[in-house]
Amino acid sequence: MKTRINELVELLNRYADEYYRLDSPSVSDADYDRLYRELVDLETAHPELILPNSPTHRVGGKILDGFEKYTHIYPLYSLQDAFSLEELQTFDERVRKEFPHATYICELKIDGLSISLTYEAGRLVVGATRGDGNVGENITENLKRVKDIPLTLPEPLDITVRGECYMPKASFERVNLERQEKGEAEFANPRNAAAGTLRQLDTGVVAQRGLSTFLYQEASPTDASSQSQVLAELDRLGFTTNHDYALADSISEVWNFIESIAAKRNELPYEIDGIVIKVNDLAIQEELGFTVKAPRWAVAYKFPAEEKEAEILSVDWTVGRTGVVTPTANLTPVQLAGTTVSRATLHNVDYIAEKDIRIGDTVIVYKAGDIIPAVLRVVEEKRDQQEVMPIPVDCPSCASPLMHYEDEVALRCINPHCPSQIMNRLEHFASRDAMNIAGLGTSIVEKLFKAGLVKDVADIYQITVDDLLKLEGIKEKSAAKLYQAIQTSKENSAEKLLFGLGIRHVGSKASKILLEKFVSLENLARASAEDIAQIEGLGRVIAKSLVSYFASQGVQELLAELKSAGVNLVYTGQVAVEDGLLSGMTVVLTGKLERLKRSEAKAKLESLGANVAGSVSKKTNLVVAGSDAGSKLTKAQELGIEVKDEAWLESL
Ligand code: AMP
Ligand code: ZN
Repeated sequence: MKTRINELVELLNRYADEYYRLDSPSVSDADYDRLYRELVDLETAHPELILPNSPTHRVGGKILDGFEKYTHIYPLYSLQDAFSLEELQTFDERVRKEFPHATYICELKIDGLSISLTYEAGRLVVGATRGDGNVGENITENLKRVKDIPLTLPEPLDITVRGECYMPKASFERVNLERQEKGEAEFANPRNAAAGTLRQLDTGVVAQRGLSTFLYQEASPTDASSQSQVLAELDRLGFTTNHDYALADSISEVWNFIESIAAKRNELPYEIDGIVIKVNDLAIQEELGFTVKAPRWAVAYKFPAEEKEAEILSVDWTVGRTGVVTPTANLTPVQLAGTTVSRATLHNVDYIAEKDIRIGDTVIVYKAGDIIPAVLRVVEEKRDQQEVMPIPVDCPSCASPLMHYEDEVALRCINPHCPSQIMNRLEHFASRDAMNIAGLGTSIVEKLFKAGLVKDVADIYQITVDDLLKLEGIKEKSAAKLYQAIQTSKENSAEKLLFGLGIRHVGSKASKILLEKFVSLENLARASAEDIAQIEGLGRVIAKSLVSYFASQGVQELLAELKSAGVNLVYTGQVAVEDGLLSGMTVVLTGKLERLKRSEAKAKLESLGANVAGSVSKKTNLVVAGSDAGSKLTKAQELGIEVKDEAWLESL
């Protein structure tokens, strides 16, 4: 019995890791489920044998049967809307009639889902959705996988708090990219993605998707006397609150805040759909009370909808590195969320059919997650006699027949010699997480390919400065620089090369694990599927994909060519850096950066040779601080370490 439990725990943990972390399961969901249930049964019968690392606890995943209804002890309210300054003034007049000296707090209206968290004696016992406000769904298991929700509080409190659970724009982009690669339907916007994620029966998926929260309300009785105190108290208890709020004495101050946020809305790392204005004083809130639908003490100003009409002029079909064909509409230009949009994604063939989108149609365009413009629907009234959209049967790049597999929403070109795929593969090879060859982007790759200078990644290492100078529009200086970047990339630790090869299912994490284990690409190329599948964290899918990749004659030749060109095939754990500006320096990032993502800032520093550390110490040479920098900045100042800002980093 005990050994079976051991065995099950070990197996299930490995499968969970393959599935959630590496996205490459080696067993079917049904098999996983069966083993999981066997373990649950054994553990129920023998609770004394439950192992601390059992997947039935928190980590990894659980397959839920469904969600139970949960009746809220304190109902969740919705908010009255306002769409203009006038409507805000009307709200203000109503408040001031009774409380002439009321002041307001303005908070960002986060575009996610309302959640309610109940703690007993400081432990999270229930996490629920809003539902109709009175009855929601119990999604505790999923909310436990949202990283910034504390499972325990610093004090043994009985408390119910409320807030918004959302998907940051960056996670949204990543999740959709993964779905696109897999031929799955993309999420329309971060809100849908968050909703879909929280209703997952597979809790591990939730952990992987990267949701976040902002808490803003104590629903149970509180000692605070104002909403701003509530936020401070939530902060103190370890919840994430949004610091972008403002106190306002009048509606004109409220309006100033609205305008300042509207101006920077697109740069926020998450979606907001408005500003919530609340009377700050909780005693006044109580006096004002509620209407049947919403509190009288609050109003939600909604930003004008970021949707515009545009006409579809034509459609481009482009082939990605894996052969997936993506349709993009060329539009009459429209202003949308601060930029001019003249192209919008149509996602895939199934989407076009479902929405019956045709060339010449007037359509509603919006920015999915304020990032990627997309076509929402057709304005039927404006349709003339447009014909049904012609769907390509042949690859727009190589003219070989396209496949539409039954379980995929996308069309695929399966010709390995397809120029478009090759160019995208070359670009992938040069990209930052792969060989990191700065300067080898879309346009140069295309020129090199069209000039017949590169057909596969090994050819990159045969390019001479003279070759580059023959290309149109390349000056001596950039040719020399690109040539140097290519030479430097030869020294990369081999996991970058492995990832750069673009083998199916072999992402950058798996590449690293593989090379840590096999040390050289040549060893890996000789490994059997069993050898690979045995490695902790990798599964049969990766193993099979690698073995069939390396079995090909062409690949063997490719490896030989790379090797003779002097490309390093061995794991060294080192990323080659060209005489970096920051070589040998230890740099710490802190605070919120406005324009660069954290990961981008880190990559930039590393590309300049810096070692990026997590905490400030005497060894730190430099700190790059954004806004709201906390203890790290203080410490840097105490130690007299030089502090730079984001603009400095960008200027490098
Ligand atoms: P509505 O859905 O338009 O009725 O707006 C009410 C919803 O706004 C609430 O249920 C919350 O989910 C959401 N919301 C987002 N941010 C806030 C905030 N700072 N304060 C209150 N509600 C918020
Ligand atoms: Zn093709």
